[in-house]
Amino acid sequence: MSDDHTARRRFLLQSAAGTAVAAAYALGRPAGAAPREAATRPGGGSLTTRADVLVVGGGTAGVIAAIQAARAGAKTVLVERAGRLGGTTTVGGVAYPGLFHAWGKQVISGIGWELVKRTVAMDRGTLPDFSKPTRQHWRLQVHVNPFLYALLAEESCLQAGVRIVYYEFPLAVAKAPAGWRVECVGPQTRRQIVCRQLIDCTGGADVVGLLRLPRLREGATQPGSLLFKLGDVYRPGREQLQAVYVHGADSSSSVTRTAANLAGRKALLSRLRKSKARLVQMQGETAFRESYRIVGETIITHDDYVSGRRFDDAVCNAFYPIDLHTRTGVRPKPLARGVVPTVGLRALVPKNSRNLLVAGRCVSSDRLANSALRVQASCMAMGQAAGAAAALAAKRKTTPLALPLKNIHQLLRDHGAIVPGA
Ligand SMILES: Cc1cc2nc3c(=O)[nH]c(=O)nc-3n(C[C@H](O)[C@H](O)[C@H](O)COP(=O)(O)OP(=O)(O)OC[C@H]3O[C@@H](n4cnc5c(N)ncnc54)[C@H](O)[C@@H]3O)c2cc1C
Repeated sequence: MSDDHTARRRFLLQSAAGTAVAAAYALGRPAGAAPREAATRPGGGSLTTRADVLVVGGGTAGVIAAIQAARAGAKTVLVERAGRLGGTTTVGGVAYPGLFHAWGKQVISGIGWELVKRTVAMDRGTLPDFSKPTRQHWRLQVHVNPFLYALLAEESCLQAGVRIVYYEFPLAVAKAPAGWRVECVGPQTRRQIVCRQLIDCTGGADVVGLLRLPRLREGATQPGSLLFKLGDVYRPGREQLQAVYVHGADSSSSVTRTAANLAGRKALLSRLRKSKARLVQMQGETAFRESYRIVGETIITHDDYVSGRRFDDAVCNAFYPIDLHTRTGVRPKPLARGVVPTVGLRALVPKNSRNLLVAGRCVSSDRLANSALRVQASCMAMGQAAGAAAALAAKRKTTPLALPLKNIHQLLRDHGAIVPGA
């Protein structure tokens, strides 16, 4: 069944299914009566969806990648295993993206910045004064209301024409004549997505893992954190949440994610009992700082990062201190004055792959460089660059690394991004 031709019919069927379920409940009928109209019958056929660009993971980087690809004219599908967009920014509660500015000027702009600014404006919040360089980098992070950010991210995707698929995730990925065939599953749904270009924005390079391409990972990783607020009131967009470290937190599988959530919640409960304060906010999941990174066509090293190396294929800037959390906490190491690191396209391309990109914290980098590259403004900039390269490659029926760099740069600039050196 092709959903390109039957989308409206299925929407009507699904609406009817919703009505039927409600009616069944109202009439006290057994709940089993209605699901016959659900997207896929258990054991039956699966949906087929066709796209130019498939983005897997609708988090910090993935939302921006999808909007960019769709605004560039690519038929874009965004698959997100959760039920809302924003990833660590919203579900994780790390709602203070940084850093868009360095040394008194803006170094990252474009779609991510546009979304952040719109969220702050609609929430009647304020932006920091970016004109004064400071070694206290957190002063330049932007506080966003995570609920509003999720709403506006979703609206922006839909307005750009992105097809959002919630509650599904890829189970298998195979090469197809014109790109990829990605088998996704979700509750009562099986879906094949046939696409030309694939962007892995899962944070932990899950898609790259499914393809058995090499990934990097340390024996001991940075702790994750469960974010919460104890007190009288939580003021989203106006304050940073409290956090408990979750050592060994690992985003790789449902087993390790469950363990991270259980450990985080146990630690929070223990803190709550000791403090006697009220719990007024708790994020739905433990947020992860570190898991897998890809082995790309190039690996950004600590030296590349702290020297502000301008890669010959640079597609965006990045900016943050080296920020490695350990068991004893974190002591950020600021960059030398004037340094603005860059990210090259080859760091977003898994080694020896075609038609495949990554964006976000799984960018190809060594551990120390990654401790800085993983922050949100940089992830958004990488997302936009990956979205632009994928859209152009899909249109020209080629692979991103075969595109003239100047065309990617032009597309990025047309969509408000800052391109290093341009
Ligand atoms: C506690 C903590 C504090 C931090 N502090 C800061 C800070 O002060 N400033 C800052 O800028 N950054 C900070 N960071 C870093 C930053 O928030 C993250 O590194 C960044 O948001 C990661 O973006 P991403 O797009 O790579 O991943 P995410 O935002 O995590 O998005 C990944 C998305 O993919 C989805 N997904 C995962 N696997 C699959 C799958 N198989 N199929 C479908 N969907 C999938 C997830 O549900 C999620 O929505 C912090 C991080 C943490 C954890």
